[in-house]
Amino acid sequence: MESSKLKETYEKQQYQSQANLVYVNTIIIGAILVFIYFFILKTYSIAVANIVLLAVSYISIRLNRKEQYTLSSLIFITTVAFTAFLQIHEFGLRTGFQYFYLNLSGLVMFTNWKHWQKAAGTMLLVSSFILSFQLNYQATPPVELSYFWVFFLPTVNILLNVAGVANSAHYYITITKKAHQTLNDLAMKDYLTGLMNRTSFDYFLLELCEGRVKKGHGMSILLLDLDHFKRINDTYGHLCGDELLRQIEIILQEQTRKEDCAARYGGEEFVIVSKSDSIEETPLFAESICKRVRDMQFTYKDQMISVTLSIGALYISPQASTHIQEALELADQLLYKAKSAGRNRVVSEQLAS
Ligand code: GH3
Ligand code: MG
Ligand code: MG
Repeated sequence: MESSKLKETYEKQQYQSQANLVYVNTIIIGAILVFIYFFILKTYSIAVANIVLLAVSYISIRLNRKEQYTLSSLIFITTVAFTAFLQIHEFGLRTGFQYFYLNLSGLVMFTNWKHWQKAAGTMLLVSSFILSFQLNYQATPPVELSYFWVFFLPTVNILLNVAGVANSAHYYITITKKAHQTLNDLAMKDYLTGLMNRTSFDYFLLELCEGRVKKGHGMSILLLDLDHFKRINDTYGHLCGDELLRQIEIILQEQTRKEDCAARYGGEEFVIVSKSDSIEETPLFAESICKRVRDMQFTYKDQMISVTLSIGALYISPQASTHIQEALELADQLLYKAKSAGRNRVVSEQLAS
């Protein structure tokens, strides 16, 4: 997937879940308000307006699913603004419904509207906020509210607005964190197989190298290279080669432990670094991977393709003082020997001191 497409998909998912959260919360809170208006305050027109808001929120969720983001946010914001207008008119400014205009103008920033549409929407909402004071500050609201409701409604409204702002802040933090994670994955993971790439492998090696000295346990370094991979690419196509690399990744995940490191070292080369308690472990471990690949029934487009690989396996004892880069070079030489000796095999050695 090209990077702009990736970004678009990612942003869509983020936006959709955030917008749905707002719509669902509106449905829940709106339902409670409908109950209050209908059965307690008996202000039926406001109850009906809130029922319309519930319906619109539901429609917005459906439109969201169809990726009609502009329309869904437009009808939602318009309906909330209109419902706020009716409630200010009915109950007066003291109930605090005018603050929804400010919250909505914040919400506009999260929509996928064009810049000028966002600017126009924000200006309209902020004007409505100012206008609501102009129109209502001296007016006597038609509905007389008891002391309890005069306390309850603004409290709820203020809490809802604070929750709205907190939610927006949370949304920003979440997308920033996720964007950071995505960037990190793109930089540190191999795109094709999802394994560690060369960069993160180098970091890992540094850390592990220090850890090994402290913990005092042995270590295996395995360099794996697919045999005649170019031939597979040439015969069955590049996509087949890619699929094979993914299958190898599955095998490596299967064969390694959680604390081991398996990375894509280069094109069709992989590297495994694993903790080993004894000299015997390293060749056995390498042999088991070699056998697992040899026995793999790899089919591509109904064609069975035989696959083998060669491994250079090096055991490093806890006493060994060799630098890790030298050890890797040695493993590479062992791999070269395995290739020269006819491929499909393991050549192993040990570094005792
Ligand atoms: P040998 O047995 O000596 O290792 O031979 P080989 O053909 O495996 O090695 P060679 O170095 O000649 O060819 C490696 C090929 O791997 C060449 C390159 O096009 C291919 N390759 C590297 N990265 C990828 C990849 O991500 N996908 C695919 N499909 N092929 C790749
Ligand atoms: Mg090869
Ligand atoms: Mg190679």
